[in-house]
Amino acid sequence: MINLVSLHTHTSYSDGKNSMEEMVLQAISSGFKRIGFTDHSFVTCDAEYCMAYENYDAYKKEARMLKEKYADKIEILCGIEQDYYSDYPAEGFDYVIGSVHFIKIDDDYICIDWGGEEGTRTIQAAAKKYFNDDIYALLEYYFETISSVVEKTGADIIGHFDVIRKTNEQLPFFDPENERYIAAWKKAIDILITKNVLFEINVSPLLNKTLSVPHPAYDIQAYIKEKGGKMYYTGDCHSTVRLSDFANYLQNEADALK
Ligand SMILES: [Zn+2]
Ligand SMILES: [Zn+2]
Repeated sequence: MINLVSLHTHTSYSDGKNSMEEMVLQAISSGFKRIGFTDHSFVTCDAEYCMAYENYDAYKKEARMLKEKYADKIEILCGIEQDYYSDYPAEGFDYVIGSVHFIKIDDDYICIDWGGEEGTRTIQAAAKKYFNDDIYALLEYYFETISSVVEKTGADIIGHFDVIRKTNEQLPFFDPENERYIAAWKKAIDILITKNVLFEINVSPLLNKTLSVPHPAYDIQAYIKEKGGKMYYTGDCHSTVRLSDFANYLQNEADALK
């Protein structure tokens, strides 16, 4: 029996489908020994998907209440997924996942984490508008941004390092084998590796069946490993269904290693 842990978990405090308690109950029945909540920090550029700042206290309070209530069944942590462009610092949380969901050019925030073909079109339009239609220049800019995510967010864990690749199979817009792309992510890893943080291996694309590789992709994982970086599986679960899928994923991975 492996020790199941979910360190990247969303609830209805941000864009998750279920309440905190529903997620806890699912985690217990799926055999998790530890669950950490990491709802999205507040950002003004896209207030819809994130947690309202005035709800931070209620979020922490509810996590504390559930921690006591289910203390004999599961360990509960209260973290936050702190966006690079968040308006408030991440204070008073057990840990921080630092993530880049937007790139900012002048006063324009371009979401690089939208799903589906719309996601690709948004990125392509930004490349046209700001980078002379050079998609690799935009990708370089993205990795340059994420290379300072620790300073910006106080991250303990680097969230979905190459999430910009998210829609590249539904509507491809770049070649992951391109040498400029590889050089850009390597440069960011070389910087982040010195910060002594954890990299998540975010398997949500596999659970959601949106991409055939996790974030980061396997070649990036190999590079992190080669450089001595530490990695940890997360499911970025936004519902009880995904939490259960994530438990199955971890179990299958563990079985495959036997
Ligand atoms: Zn995220
Ligand atoms: Zn997330």
